[in-house]
Amino acid sequence: MNPPSRGFHTHAPGFWPEATDAEWNDWRWQLRHRITSLEQAEQHLRLTPDEREGLLLTRHKLAFAITPHYFNLIEPDNPDCPIRRQVIPRAGEAVITSGEMADPCGEDSHMPVPGLVHRYPDRVLFLVTDRCASYCRYCTRSRVVSGVGEQELETDFEAVYEYLAAHTEVRDVLLSGGDALLLSDDKLRKILSRLRALPHIEFLRIGSRVPIFLPQRITPELCNMLKEFHPLWMSVHVNHPRELTTEVRDALGRLADAGIPLGNQSVLLAGVNDNPDTMRALIHRLLCCRVRPYYLYQCDLIHGSAHLRTSVAKGLEIIESLRGHTTGYAVPQYVIDAPGGGGKVPVSPGYVVYHDKEKVVLRNYEGRIFEYPEKPGDTSAVVRPEAILEY
Ligand SMILES: *Cc1c(COP(=O)(O)O)cnc(C)c1O
Repeated sequence: MNPPSRGFHTHAPGFWPEATDAEWNDWRWQLRHRITSLEQAEQHLRLTPDEREGLLLTRHKLAFAITPHYFNLIEPDNPDCPIRRQVIPRAGEAVITSGEMADPCGEDSHMPVPGLVHRYPDRVLFLVTDRCASYCRYCTRSRVVSGVGEQELETDFEAVYEYLAAHTEVRDVLLSGGDALLLSDDKLRKILSRLRALPHIEFLRIGSRVPIFLPQRITPELCNMLKEFHPLWMSVHVNHPRELTTEVRDALGRLADAGIPLGNQSVLLAGVNDNPDTMRALIHRLLCCRVRPYYLYQCDLIHGSAHLRTSVAKGLEIIESLRGHTTGYAVPQYVIDAPGGGGKVPVSPGYVVYHDKEKVVLRNYEGRIFEYPEKPGDTSAVVRPEAILEY
């Protein structure tokens, strides 16, 4: 059976009418033909002064690159296009506002060896490359990604394997970067094999935006290779329903057919997905692509991101509009990566309105109130969200 086609469109060949099908479907061709300059962007888009300035100012912080596949999703005459806001720099990117940081999640201070972040007790983040297929303007790792920033990612692969061999409490390794799927099949296979050689590593996962920016990379050969390493899961990154084209749907389908459970991590972004209707359309379309919405991130306090950030109240309002109103599988967990290195903290609308030794008082999705009696004699500490902690 074919998946439902409603709402899925192709945008190829778009601005590349001369490309042959073989070229277009070749991921290396896509990478070679990325849009990487103001001049190239301007050939196709009516840029605003804000965008022109952004393109001139920001090259020192994070490279500018967009694959032809993704560039075709941009509406050339609409400065508010939600695709455009994610990948075309704006002048605000060069403005550092209060509270913003180069390393908002405090990763550098949790790196026991270069390229490995060990923040949580049983799992690690392994940064295997500093390159991406296209560059998101709100990148939380812009300090090391793309090779144009002040800092370089200098992953010491042998030191990482040595550290992991010694740390038998680590059971979960998350490959990220940059984007791990930009590595060749061979390079990736070598990394995964080294990890699989460690008996305490149970669970592997890859965080990647390649299925969205460069669906051509998800070849049958890659899928066959990845499935040698099960259990292997993947988190992709989609922020707007229009990113789910027919090509992306098919690439995600190939990964799912290879037995790779797929999750999505969205970032809440002003003018991209900061309203209930867009978010609902996104998560419904993700389910049709066999992707389970996993996290919705409050945008990190990265340098120059103020124009893309929303309030936390907005995020809570969106989650509240979804929970109970639609398929539970479709509702992501809203999280804030605690500034300075506290890790991901779930934030949820308050459904527990009161809780003491006798009862818990609940509010359902319609706002109706229900009581559930607490089990007598239990010594667990009671959580009272209405209690304001002094700090
Ligand atoms: C997000 C993250 C993980 C994985 O967290 P999960 O909640 O298990 O998905 C691991 N390490 C670091 C440093 C992270 O930022």
